[in-house]
Amino acid sequence: MNVLVIGCGGREHMLVKKLKQSDRVANIFVAPGNAGMQNEATCVNIKADEIERLVQFAKQEAIDWTIVGPELPLSKGIVDWFRAEGLKIFGPTKQAALIESSKDFSKKLMKKYQIPTADFQTFTDSVKAKAYIKSKGAPIVVKADGLANGKGVVVAMTEQEAYQAIDEMLESNRFGEAGAQVVIEEFLIGKEFSLFAFVEGEAVYPMIPARDYKRAYDGDQGPNTGGMGAYAPVPDVSQADYDFAVNAVLKPVAKAMVEEGRAYTGVLYAGLIQTKEGIKVIEFNARFGDPETQVVLPLLENDLIDVIEAVTSGVDPKLKWRDAYAVGAVIAESGYPHACRKGLFVPELCEMDDVYLIHAGTTLNCHAQLVSNGGRVLLAGSVQKTLAEANEKVYQYLQTIEKADKFYYRTDIGVV
Ligand code: ATP
Repeated sequence: MNVLVIGCGGREHMLVKKLKQSDRVANIFVAPGNAGMQNEATCVNIKADEIERLVQFAKQEAIDWTIVGPELPLSKGIVDWFRAEGLKIFGPTKQAALIESSKDFSKKLMKKYQIPTADFQTFTDSVKAKAYIKSKGAPIVVKADGLANGKGVVVAMTEQEAYQAIDEMLESNRFGEAGAQVVIEEFLIGKEFSLFAFVEGEAVYPMIPARDYKRAYDGDQGPNTGGMGAYAPVPDVSQADYDFAVNAVLKPVAKAMVEEGRAYTGVLYAGLIQTKEGIKVIEFNARFGDPETQVVLPLLENDLIDVIEAVTSGVDPKLKWRDAYAVGAVIAESGYPHACRKGLFVPELCEMDDVYLIHAGTTLNCHAQLVSNGGRVLLAGSVQKTLAEANEKVYQYLQTIEKADKFYYRTDIGVV
């Protein structure tokens, strides 16, 4: 069968690697893909949100399944377009993807269906927003309602910071439409973890928990990033925590979406936090997370196409997981997440038996040399019997890399 993966990051490279293992998949195409995928798939020069061109391509190449990585095309209705043309695509419709593309929608849904989350209120008026902040005090969290490439959340430790975020979003239109409405949220304290599930209507098939590292530097210091690494599964997520996340969060939200006339198909991502009052939802995403996918999929024993076909036909995919741990550390350009220099030579690295390599922001320059093309450049991962062993393998490997002052990575991924 022919499969099309949409996106160009590490998550999509992992999807390609996983699909490559399937006996059922003959050809893998990625739009637009990145330099690291070129030996494993055919990269197609179409951007992830050029929906009409993607539809044309899928028809022309007789694509049997399309899997969507990033949120933008989902929020623009790629699934609706493909389905209207009779093309099979795995992901939520535009109406269902709203669970990620509007934080106001997602928070109101949780409130209505009593799914535990931080207290909140939504504002379009900056004076009222600031009065609310004053009444609640800091720390407090200000979020742009719409998609903002992971940059629309300000965890304000002072009221002043929160006011500034309000000014940027509601007065200076820093995020355009996405920030024309803001959600102001109670600040929660606890350890976070992510739980993905394959979902079709009310049927929910949870994966294993994963933890990503949002901050740029060791010890969770520095600015927020798209994620500097991840590991799975997470030993401090107890069976009771896991059951709660499945039964009090994922299943009720899938049911709620059906009741709201927005039945969900695809991977649903719950970002969760273990607070003193129990587990609460930080956010939902309408797709696989990055970089968690790079440590979750290596542990999935099933064929991904089998899983997708079972789930979408209402059959339990009977997910099977390796009895092992995966750790993945991101190698980022040294200016990330602020100014990112593109075009830096990336060391030519080889995968080893026990270390896999995922490309994210890489491309080939006009001399066919591998160069950086984004903040997060590569991820090195390993699957081992224990978390400590997986961590050790990754860092033994990373020590061999000549990173000079061009790249950096955190040294504490998977250290618990
Ligand atoms: P992502 O890039 O993961 O999709 P996002 O931009 O949609 O992120 P959130 O996941 O809602 O934003 O928030 C980003 C991070 O900010 C969270 O992972 C968490 O660390 C922190 N955060 C968000 N909401 C809260 C909260 N209510 N209390 C404390 N921290 C929070």
